[in-house]
Amino acid sequence: MSRIAYVNGRYVPHREARVHVEDRGYQFADAVYEVIGIVNGRFLDEEPHLDRLDSSLKELRIAWPIGRPALKLVLREVARRNHVSNGLVYFQVSRGVARRDFGFPKRTRPSLVVTARWTPPVSADPGAGVAVITVPDIRWKRVDIKTTGLLGGALGKQKAREQGAYEAWQVDDKGMVTEGTSSNAWIVTAAGELVTRPTGNEILAGITRQTVKKVAADLQLTVIERPFTVAEAQAAREAFMTSATSYVTPIVRIDGRPVSDGKPGDVARRLRAEYLRAVTAVEPFM
Ligand code: PMP
Repeated sequence: MSRIAYVNGRYVPHREARVHVEDRGYQFADAVYEVIGIVNGRFLDEEPHLDRLDSSLKELRIAWPIGRPALKLVLREVARRNHVSNGLVYFQVSRGVARRDFGFPKRTRPSLVVTARWTPPVSADPGAGVAVITVPDIRWKRVDIKTTGLLGGALGKQKAREQGAYEAWQVDDKGMVTEGTSSNAWIVTAAGELVTRPTGNEILAGITRQTVKKVAADLQLTVIERPFTVAEAQAAREAFMTSATSYVTPIVRIDGRPVSDGKPGDVARRLRAEYLRAVTAVEPFM
């Protein structure tokens, strides 16, 4: 089946989807993006993702390329045309095409690109869990803005793959874990409390992180927002990661050391099941 992408008002074959070489997203990573998970024909946390797109655009002073209701229609249309009832939609807004110059161009229309990708249907069962390695956090100082400037994360993820791990946890100059390359980082203490780093300029305020906080509160679990070290995570009762496409995924090894017995923990299992239940309680679009 041939894939379809949306590029600036047109639905085009994926292999022919392109933007200009002087698009500022290409030359400066002057672009922001979002990824929304799709489970059984439902968008997960759509409104918060669009809210975060709005704040990323405001931070960079880029205008919405089309209105929010129109964007919602385009996201649905791209998912439908690609028959994606399980998977994700990716959408990116750049400042647009302009003669190369660091300062903002005066009259440029933002570019909008939307793609969709199929993934196997998600299971509430997390399977065996995943391994992470740790790497120094070498990213810029505004990773709270969801820009396409992702090279720091890409290098970390590549190192993880080369070492047979699923994700890399990035560590700041003080030895505290910031976040994964494309996920937020959590641990569960011996007392059963959930710990995750507070939002600020050093991490992306994950939408899944935000929803999992609410789910945890509903389950009467305590969430403490504070930084933690790699050693604390290795000695924790459980560790897990959250993101739009990994949901809640238990972490069973950190830098080769097993977390507890090296099996997914009960808290992460419950949170994954409850998270999926909560976010799929919306109208399907297909
Ligand atoms: N941190 C980073 C650096 C990310 O790239 C992502 C995923 N885009 C996340 C955290 C998780 O965010 P979300 O739950 O909104 O997918």
